[in-house]
Amino acid sequence: MANDCLFCRILSGEIPAKKVYEDDRAFAFEDINPQAPTHVLIIPKKHVIGLKEAGEADAELLGYCQLVAAKIARQRGIEDGYRTVYNVGPKAGQSVFHLHLHLLGGRDLRWPPG
Ligand code: AMP
Ligand code: ZN
Repeated sequence: MANDCLFCRILSGEIPAKKVYEDDRAFAFEDINPQAPTHVLIIPKKHVIGLKEAGEADAELLGYCQLVAAKIARQRGIEDGYRTVYNVGPKAGQSVFHLHLHLLGGRDLRWPPG
């Protein structure tokens, strides 16, 4: 838990969020500024800054967040097309420095992304 971290504060309940999923390792909630009909953020409960700061000890957690995203996509019936994305670094638009996996779906998704 990092006191100055927005997503740690969501995890502690200090800042409200629309919870989608929770277990002992991961938490998922609706993005406040959705870019698709489904736009959910999946975060580890452990404070990891981002993908490039993650270490080998976090490998299982990274994969686990992907599996949580797949579970949510299945529940929402968007398996005909969805995307999971880590924005890494400011040039890719990373604005919150607690690892978060975007799950986007429910509409046609263009490639390459902008
Ligand atoms: P990124 O730009 O990849 O770091 O993603 C951060 C995401 O967090 C953005 O899509 C924001 O819309 C979202 N976000 C920021 N603040 C909140 C919040 N309080 N609750 C839910 N989502 C948020
Ligand atoms: Zn955090």
